[in-house]
Amino acid sequence: MANELRLQVVAEAFKKKPLEVATPAERPSENFGRKVFGRDKMYKYLPKDVYEKMVDVIDNGAQLDRSVADAVATGMIQWAKEHGATHYTHWFQPLTEGTAEKHDSFLEHDGRGGMLEEFSGKLLVQQEPDASSFPSGGIRSTFEARGYSAWDPTSPVFIIDDTLVIPTIFISYSGEALDYKAPLLRALKAVNQAATEVCHYFDPAVKKVTSNLGWEQEYFLVDEGLYAARPDLLLTGRTLMGHDSAKNQQMEDHYFGAIPERVAAFMKDLEMQALELGIPCKTRHNEVAPNQFEVAPIFEDTNLAVDHNMLLMSVMKRVARKHGFRALLHEKPFAGINGSGKHNNWSLSTDTGILLHAPGKTPTENLRFATFIVETLMGVWRHNGLLKASIMSATNAHRLGANEAPPAIISSFLGSQLSELLDHIERADRDDLFRLDRRQGLKLDISEIPEIFIDNTDRNRTSPFAFTGNRFEFRAVGSEANCASAMIALNSAVAEALTDFKRRVDARIPQLEGELAGTGHSATYHAIIDVLRDDIRTCRPIRFDGNGYSDQWVAEAQRRGLDVETSCPKIFDHYLRPESVAMFERLGVMTRKELQARNEVKWETYTKKIQIEARVLGDLSMNHIIPVATRYQNQLLAGVAQMAAVFPADKAERLSERNLRLVEEIAERTAAIESGVEQLVEARRHANKIDDARQRAIAYHDTIEPLFGTIRYQIDKLELITDDSLWPLPKYRELLFIR
Ligand code: ADP
Ligand code: MG
Repeated sequence: MANELRLQVVAEAFKKKPLEVATPAERPSENFGRKVFGRDKMYKYLPKDVYEKMVDVIDNGAQLDRSVADAVATGMIQWAKEHGATHYTHWFQPLTEGTAEKHDSFLEHDGRGGMLEEFSGKLLVQQEPDASSFPSGGIRSTFEARGYSAWDPTSPVFIIDDTLVIPTIFISYSGEALDYKAPLLRALKAVNQAATEVCHYFDPAVKKVTSNLGWEQEYFLVDEGLYAARPDLLLTGRTLMGHDSAKNQQMEDHYFGAIPERVAAFMKDLEMQALELGIPCKTRHNEVAPNQFEVAPIFEDTNLAVDHNMLLMSVMKRVARKHGFRALLHEKPFAGINGSGKHNNWSLSTDTGILLHAPGKTPTENLRFATFIVETLMGVWRHNGLLKASIMSATNAHRLGANEAPPAIISSFLGSQLSELLDHIERADRDDLFRLDRRQGLKLDISEIPEIFIDNTDRNRTSPFAFTGNRFEFRAVGSEANCASAMIALNSAVAEALTDFKRRVDARIPQLEGELAGTGHSATYHAIIDVLRDDIRTCRPIRFDGNGYSDQWVAEAQRRGLDVETSCPKIFDHYLRPESVAMFERLGVMTRKELQARNEVKWETYTKKIQIEARVLGDLSMNHIIPVATRYQNQLLAGVAQMAAVFPADKAERLSERNLRLVEEIAERTAAIESGVEQLVEARRHANKIDDARQRAIAYHDTIEPLFGTIRYQIDKLELITDDSLWPLPKYRELLFIR
């Protein structure tokens, strides 16, 4: 009997037509932010003084008092009701993936037997979601049972369906962060403070420095019928088995290719909905692998960009279902073809412009440029292990170091021009760098940064942290991750480097003042150059312009003292290294206790993911693969018997050779699968007895995960030899090439 389900869903998937999406009457620009209570809405719905207070809160971090919150809530509910909202929710980013929300309606008794719809500052500002089921790594038992969510006024509220959604932080009653947003806001504050102070060397008028993030989100689409027929995709987000398709990405015909119609309709719909929610989507294209795509907005302030990415991922999943697809955000849904990442384009800017932008108009601007480049590199060099930990997960581990994505070593690619500039600053005599020009006074030699600089940053796709003209691109981030994790580590590392830089420059200035008296040279600029020179030398090991995929690089990186660990649970150790704890504590981003608790959650999550995969692989092996292979084996044996019935013995034997060979192969492979599954169960039993979360995660990494490959190998071989019409699971060629 053939396995009809698979063939049926394949046939149906093939026939599906693109969904018609009504285009709104407005231009996309007019539709932008329609469902967001942004500044324009605040201006319209809030009293003038309240509006001004809110702008001060958002732009300058001013304190928000209770009476203002009440007035804001009143304006908000008026606007929300006009857009059909009946409920509201505090929306937060717990340490699990994704976001969390609990909806309440605006309904209240009016005291006269009826009901009215109300919303107050109290409800807007703080809520107590039942936090007991969110991971806390033991924080709640150590400290205080309850947690609460608190409004983040810097990220505007928005409406989804009938609900007013309020971005919040999620913390325990004793103040420990139970989410991503709280430490992110602290890290952004730290980098603002440190960078603003450094900016004052060059321009005392700078008021604040903003960290920017522009993410590029990669994803796969799979037809939902095919998805439903793959329990592994459904339960783990990736295929645990599946032989390579004869054609995959070797033709390189998908990248930037024409977008298939069903997908184009989906993208259009997604963008429209994202624009309404204030997400400034700009770019869409096919990615390298078949059925892989990318969406990217214009960069924004990091906190807002993080919220928008979380929001986009959930909107994407919904819109995909509407179009009969499932969006796969897993970093490695399919073996043998590219996985998905989320490039995090990061920069710092002041109220007057981008800080990582060259060439500047004046020598001062160029010195400032060099300062921010070098100190970013210092942060990345000093905390390369931590940065790797910040993007590591059970799922991203498949991607890193797998010859297609950044290696599991953090290094930075600068391009030839920027490298030459840094080499020049490092090598040139201090006096050579400064020349006295009769008419213009002091001249700084590094002003000769060529105009073409910005367009000339070559692309090195293998680099996890590449300079691309006016920003760094942190490419190692996983497609499923919350960008906040990487942004907390990066902004903290840069804040620390800038603070340390300023301390050393300030100490150097008085020494130089005497030395340079009467020369017309600025002690400050000379001090900056001196410190930069030291730093360029110190952080040299992080600069790598070569091929990050090569084996030589691993050996070379190790010699340079960069972190080359590849075991995910061990990489998490970086969060608890003395230099990481000291940095986070000094900057006020996270305490040792918070870091410990969060690592417990990371190890637990790692273990659970591998555990679920192990169970699914075991189940599918025993109840999908082995029975089907055995059925085919019986068919083959029946063929042998029939041969013997119609032909003389020697002829029947000859004609049955192929059948018997396959029967034997199936017997060997199913036996290998069975013993692999037994080992898997045994290894799990053993690992589950370990109490310590870190040790347990390491056991899962070292003894359970490696068995997946051996079992899969046998299953994929069986897929190749088994009668196609019997095979129960949609194959790679069907999952990847059907629109
Ligand atoms: P790529 O060629 O790498 O795909 P894109 O032009 O698509 O790059 O841009 C990628 C992202 O980088 C976009 O979100 C864009 O807004 C963002 N970006 C551009 N300049 C900056 C900057 N100075 N800081 C942060 N992000 C930026
Ligand atoms: Mg990019």
